[in-house]
Amino acid sequence: MNKSAPSPLDLLRRHNLSLKKSLGQNLLVDPSHLTRIAAAADLEKSDTVLEIGPGLGALTRHLAEHAGRVVAVELDQRLIPILRTEFADRPHVSFVHGDILELSPADLLPAHQPDQPGPASAAVPYKVVANLPYYITSAVLKHILASLLPPTLAVLLVQQEVARRMVAQPGAMSILAVSVQFYARPRALHKIPAGAFLPRPKVDSRVVRLDVRPQPAVPDVDPDHFFRLVRAGFGQRRKQLRNSLSAGLSCSKREADHWLTASGIEPRRRAETLSLQEWGMLTKTVYGTV
Ligand code: SAM
Repeated sequence: MNKSAPSPLDLLRRHNLSLKKSLGQNLLVDPSHLTRIAAAADLEKSDTVLEIGPGLGALTRHLAEHAGRVVAVELDQRLIPILRTEFADRPHVSFVHGDILELSPADLLPAHQPDQPGPASAAVPYKVVANLPYYITSAVLKHILASLLPPTLAVLLVQQEVARRMVAQPGAMSILAVSVQFYARPRALHKIPAGAFLPRPKVDSRVVRLDVRPQPAVPDVDPDHFFRLVRAGFGQRRKQLRNSLSAGLSCSKREADHWLTASGIEPRRRAETLSLQEWGMLTKTVYGTV
């Protein structure tokens, strides 16, 4: 690690910058946590990392130390020239200005570096590491996990409550839990107190590691069908499934009862009690297998 690297605070002062709340700019300024986040991704020199929201590059430095290549996407145009200058001596780190939700991982990570000769070929396997802007956490998860080129692993810093919801089990499931667990095995790791950030957010955060499954947890259904049922089921939280499915799918309660019973699910149960396998059975009953 380059000990003389300026801290985010130094860079803010030097460039007379203020942080933008609207972009979720809560910088992680405690170096011990940065080390632990990078370590959770088990980085090796053969790894390519996609970092979302490098901010002033504090986490990027730790990723650059261990990975063979880092591509970091930052929406705040003001930070791009600063990042490029600070990392000028690290040719394996590049910065892209843009909104991660409008960029596809396949376009960001061609197998060839853009400055290498030859045609761009198929995209490379990669890991995502990010201290996510809180306001787009769910959208980013959907964007990367359901993309044509999902990562092999994601290590994300999210609000403590969001981490708890991601790893929930039947009885406390939500659309977020079903979506994350459909594509990955989530693990909640260490807590990061609000005081480790600048400015200090209202709540504590937690690091989560998502080991992305080679195949979805329910492999033999169409994900569009699966999630249509899940959205309908959770559309009327705390209502019995027979009611929420009938409202969400515009079918009769009798039809909903029939599908649920045929899938081995008691129609009066609530959406938060179903396992992924039960959602899978229901999808097969309603839409068949693929
Ligand atoms: N990585 C830095 C750290 O750990 O200190 C900064 C993390 S800060 C919570 C989130 C960063 O994401 C900010 O730099 C913000 O400008 C950037 N950001 C916000 N929305 C974004 C988007 N849609 N696409 C890419 N970056 C975004």
